[in-house]
Amino acid sequence: MSEKKCTACESCLMPFDKDTGVRESDKYCSLCFKNGKLAYEGTDLKEFQKVCYESMRKNGINPLKARFFTWMIRFAPRWKK
Ligand SMILES: [Zn+2]
Repeated sequence: MSEKKCTACESCLMPFDKDTGVRESDKYCSLCFKNGKLAYEGTDLKEFQKVCYESMRKNGINPLKARFFTWMIRFAPRWKK
């Protein structure tokens, strides 16, 4: 990885320029990190993916795209083993 500033959420990989909310953290998007803490504090990737998928669907993202973004979450720094 290069040294450039991170431009995507370390938890869900959403690019910050696609983030429509108010971001509180340098590392996480407005959905993953709010009110001073991570919205999902667990360590279960599958459970987190489900939460993300549902919130994307609620935001009107079509099912195919939502499924792809959900799949991509496994590559986010937060979930790397
Ligand atoms: Zn996020």
